[in-house]
Amino acid sequence: MQSRFDHVVSAGRVLFGPGRRAELGAEIDRLGAKTPLVVSTPEQGSGARQIYNGPKPTFFAGARLHTPVEVTQSALAILEQAAADCIVSIGGGSAIGLGKALALRSDLPQICIPTTYAGSEMTPILGQTENGVKTTLRSPAVLPETVIYDVELTLSLPISLSGTSGMNAIAHAAEALYAADGNPVISLMAEEGIRALAASLPIVARDPGDLAARTEALYGAWLCGTCLGSAGMALHHKLCHALGGAFDLPHAALHAVLLPYSLGYNAPATPAAIQRLGRATGHVDPVQGLFQLNRRLGNPASLEAIGMPEEGLARVAELVAVNPYWNPRPIDAQAVATFVARAFRGLPPEKV
Ligand code: NAD
Repeated sequence: MQSRFDHVVSAGRVLFGPGRRAELGAEIDRLGAKTPLVVSTPEQGSGARQIYNGPKPTFFAGARLHTPVEVTQSALAILEQAAADCIVSIGGGSAIGLGKALALRSDLPQICIPTTYAGSEMTPILGQTENGVKTTLRSPAVLPETVIYDVELTLSLPISLSGTSGMNAIAHAAEALYAADGNPVISLMAEEGIRALAASLPIVARDPGDLAARTEALYGAWLCGTCLGSAGMALHHKLCHALGGAFDLPHAALHAVLLPYSLGYNAPATPAAIQRLGRATGHVDPVQGLFQLNRRLGNPASLEAIGMPEEGLARVAELVAVNPYWNPRPIDAQAVATFVARAFRGLPPEKV
């Protein structure tokens, strides 16, 4: 067992359970706030209005993927005009990203009500886009005071996004299993989070209205998000960041397609993580197991299917070589380019 480690616990309050969105008003009171700004994407604007029906709300339904700074500036102007004294974000990583960006600039308390499995609500990480360039910062100032996980709000998450968002969550936990700054407590959460998602997502794919399976998936997503917030990520997340930025690929789907391949590359250097992944997924070879899970969930089968241009393959080695980072196995840019080419075509990851 690892004999020396740091474990930092965030002080956030988590409410979990069906129908708990009804407690939003009480949670706002608890923060001593009276005039919330409620943020969401345009698609979830009317849902957000139904969730908060207390006094003096102001709504901003303009959140977008990758937190564009110009959107944050517009929301900040509305926040100041309304003299809002807390921020409520309702939705997936896009809405929660906007809530975090506003908290960073205003120092106001935040309540997050997540409706996907992305896990941003559990992390001190904020990615923002300005002039087409995405930068990422880590600050405790973006951590929410309260997170309300209400499984009923995930019932409307389309099957396609449920599968890819769930694999996005599994990716956080999988990389936490071999993180340089991981620890035994995070490994417990990671294994349990992956187990819960691997067990529940196929049921959700068959019956998106299954409340028990949705509950287990959301519980897994919470644990996996906690892993992302606590442990540093490696090849898989950095590669998704580089390819997503270079070719404008959908966030969750990109994570889903690439995950088995990046784990396969790291497998020879991460036997303990592979053993835990094997237990969590019920596969002796969890790399092939996750590849098959993608198929069972009906997730996109290849990078080509999610819009990566074939000419982009020639740029992968160069993209991988920029900004070196820690990885359990030294990065061989050519070997990475080779597995990305397999992922482009949807061929199974090579056996390890
Ligand atoms: P998203 O928030 O962009 O949501 C995708 C779409 O699904 C949106 O139209 C949204 O309104 C809709 N949607 C969300 N929940 C729904 C529901 N329950 N029912 C119906 N529709 C629903 O997608 P995402 O994958 O959750 O978030 C991706 C973003 O989050 C990216 O910008 C990514 O970088 C960021 N992210 C950040 C962190 C972090 O720690 N900072 C972690 C994970 C993801």
